Amino acid sequence: MATTRRGKAARRADPNQIPPARMAIDWPHMTIAPPIAVDPFAPHAMTASETLAASEVSPINGLFETDVRHRAAQYGPNSIAARPPLSAWHVLAHQFRSPVVYLLAGAAALAFVFREFEEGLAIVAVLAVNALIGLFTELKAARSIEALHALGGRMARVRRDGHTRLVPAEELVPGDIVLVDAGDAIAADLRLIEASNLAADESTLTGESVAVHKDIAAVAADARLAERKSMLFKGTAITRGSGIGVVTAIGSHTELGRISRLVADAEAGSSPLEKKLARLSGQLVWATIIVAAIIVGVGLVTHDDVFLIIEAGIALAVAAIPEGLPIVATLALARGMWRMARQNALIERLSAVETLGATTVILTDKTGTLTENRMTLRRLWIDSGEIDITDHARKLANDALVTRLLTTAVLCNDATLGHTAKDSSGDPMELALLRAGRAAGLNRHALHAAHPLAAKHAFDSANKMMATVHTDGSRFLIAVKGAPEAVLAACTRAATERGDVPMDDVMRKAWSDRVDHLGTHGLRVLAGAGKSAARADAAPYEELTFLGLLALEDPARADVPQAIDDCRRAGIRVVMVTGDHAVTARSIGRAVGLPSTKVVEGRHVQTLIKGGHADLAAAGIFARVNPAEKLALVRAYQEAGDVVAMTGDGVNDAPALKQADIGVAMGLRGTDVAREAAAMVLLDDAFPTIVKAIREGRVIFGNIRCFVAYLLSCNLSEVIVVGLAILLTLPLPILPLQILYLNLVTDVFPAFALAMGEGERDVLARPPRDPKEPIVGRAQWIVIALQSIALSAGTFGALVLANAWLALPSRETVTVTFLTLAFAQLWHVFDMRHARAAPFNNEVTRNPWVWAALALCALLLAVPPYVAPMAQVLHLAPLTPAMWSVVVAMSLLPMLVVQCAAYVLTMVGIMNRC
Ligand code: ADP
Ligand code: MG
Repeated sequence: MATTRRGKAARRADPNQIPPARMAIDWPHMTIAPPIAVDPFAPHAMTASETLAASEVSPINGLFETDVRHRAAQYGPNSIAARPPLSAWHVLAHQFRSPVVYLLAGAAALAFVFREFEEGLAIVAVLAVNALIGLFTELKAARSIEALHALGGRMARVRRDGHTRLVPAEELVPGDIVLVDAGDAIAADLRLIEASNLAADESTLTGESVAVHKDIAAVAADARLAERKSMLFKGTAITRGSGIGVVTAIGSHTELGRISRLVADAEAGSSPLEKKLARLSGQLVWATIIVAAIIVGVGLVTHDDVFLIIEAGIALAVAAIPEGLPIVATLALARGMWRMARQNALIERLSAVETLGATTVILTDKTGTLTENRMTLRRLWIDSGEIDITDHARKLANDALVTRLLTTAVLCNDATLGHTAKDSSGDPMELALLRAGRAAGLNRHALHAAHPLAAKHAFDSANKMMATVHTDGSRFLIAVKGAPEAVLAACTRAATERGDVPMDDVMRKAWSDRVDHLGTHGLRVLAGAGKSAARADAAPYEELTFLGLLALEDPARADVPQAIDDCRRAGIRVVMVTGDHAVTARSIGRAVGLPSTKVVEGRHVQTLIKGGHADLAAAGIFARVNPAEKLALVRAYQEAGDVVAMTGDGVNDAPALKQADIGVAMGLRGTDVAREAAAMVLLDDAFPTIVKAIREGRVIFGNIRCFVAYLLSCNLSEVIVVGLAILLTLPLPILPLQILYLNLVTDVFPAFALAMGEGERDVLARPPRDPKEPIVGRAQWIVIALQSIALSAGTFGALVLANAWLALPSRETVTVTFLTLAFAQLWHVFDMRHARAAPFNNEVTRNPWVWAALALCALLLAVPPYVAPMAQVLHLAPLTPAMWSVVVAMSLLPMLVVQCAAYVLTMVGIMNRC
């Protein structure tokens, strides 16, 4: 079968197959030292053409769709099953792995020993119900996070059917011809067939952080991974240059796939938020054990029913531990991530959700983030003067200087201009140059035919120029474009109508004034230059002849001013950090309404940082910034106490993205390397999306805080009720099983509902939260304590009424007090509004989930007294209208008190958060 000869994957699957191609290869070293553990299929040791032959693929056309389909069916998807999706059984088992469950199981066992079978069964039943709730929510959260990960899939550029196209990296098959560029993450193991100035960062595989130079020459078959310079490996990234390779292994058959340890490493740990929650739960457990021990001690002295007291102690312990907390938190995070994804912000790290809300400064790119990145060439400036080319580019073709400048722009260009947007690809700026060239009658194909490409010096944001070398008869033509000051510095001559003349300082000054002039109109200015050289490897950026300026327009995005204004109200500073020219940057800064348009050039960054924080705070724009300066800026802001969100797209931006609290990569024009370093990806590259994500981040944190406060105050009220009753030697107003029922069943739903909240409308009108602030601070604890006192007071009120007014027997009394506390806890959800929000129209009342949860819980509370078996287990009796009236009145009372108190306290400005 011919197809089995096509890749390493097949050979693994069928070890008896020997690749015929291999037999044709002559490995000289094999006769010297026969390798022992050498791979039978060693593409790194074969020549490029041998690998192509073995893979049965043409480098020019690539695979054909039918081949691709066959191979895909045979080898499966190009993915490493990092870990199988979480199974329901696994999650279910997880529900039972908690100290609280052990405690309750112990209580149930005790009940069986004391022959209290109903009691024991009831505990087991409540545990089962709670486990089911946990199972469903945790599964849902896990599935939605898995689905989110699938959203962030990478693409690979392949040659198939004679065309270059983008395909999902998962769909690569052995034999595919893949094109790679600086910044790309490698999606499969590739044998290089072309390489230009190519280097890769293979630290993920080899641990070696220095980039490895790559070329197409075969290496020894037993070469170590780090020495296989003819290969590119899955999971590594291109740091420089470009190349073409043929896929030799995919998925788990790649070198990366074999090192499963790495994959395990890549799994994210738990986020700081989850850790904070875990710490909070831990503290509560200890506090509870102490309180429960004291109460049980007192109870044993004052009460006769030993079993009841011990059970009450356990119930107390259970009462105080907010069981549902971690589950609800995970669900809140997962839901928030989905909402962000729908608004084009893809979260790559769970911790980002939390940090986002605390962001105090956004360092943003200009091109494509604040602007549309829809470039058009508007003006040219050559020796004879400025030319506006808004509509009549055709006229240009007559002028020799213009032709020279535009030819340079078309030759020194990486983009591909097709006839529709779909078959055009590349940097929008370069596409704009190609379009202008085409309008002036300069066709790239024709130019390339006359002057074939001999070498290329890729654009580098450190020197801000790029160059291409073309054959020109027996000599070479070097075409250069780049940032004007960089190009001017590299020029010694200038093209004029009188021919090329030496460039003097007066001319240089004149040109740089023209750059400023164009910049004040918000135009992005490039310079073109060139020279003729005897050798293709001549230094490209020396002794050039200056040709002229090209000014491109890139309109500001219409929705940016609003987003910047939102940031101002939200106490978030927006700072532009761009590689572009100062004058252009300021002009765009004005157009989008940046609060400060004080420009600092990149080379002054170090002095500014040393100068102190006031200078840093005053700067609104950093222009001509290189990646190292970006990193320094991020650090400086962080040292000044800021939480920094920073955007980036290039390979060199990765360190700054990693350093930032929230690294933001660009989904459309960003490189894979930037994405990998980032915590968040903007699918639409747009600045307003960052602001939307920050808003979501704040909402999520607010929600988590809200339901934590809710659960804690409910639990504390139960502790107070039971504790006080024991201390005062009263009969228990609420029995252990009833506490379980409240905590494990009816409290959970309102908490879920709060976690689903959409947030106050004005969440962006508040200053950012201090990232070091705990989830429950001292002020919140005081509020929680007061609220739970109100809840328990209502319950004791009901106890008094049931005894003094209705003179109920004990079972009826407990029914009234239990239901009073239970309903009071339900209404308590309305106390969870933000203190400054309106009492009736607020986040909680607008949340449909809250109403659904209330309806469900009211049912879960109102039905049991009337259903014999449930009534029996929960120790409830059917209620008379008089009993109901006590329950309703006494359960509503705490909410009314809390709401009034909140109103008054807000008036005098004491309370601020829920
Ligand atoms: P930014 O995109 O924020 O302007 P960059 O670092 O990408 O920052 O670019 C810096 C400068 O380098 C640009 O202002 C432009 O003058 C020049 N430049 C950008 N891309 C190219 C390119 N492909 N070829 C030549 N010069 C370029
Ligand atoms: Mg750029």
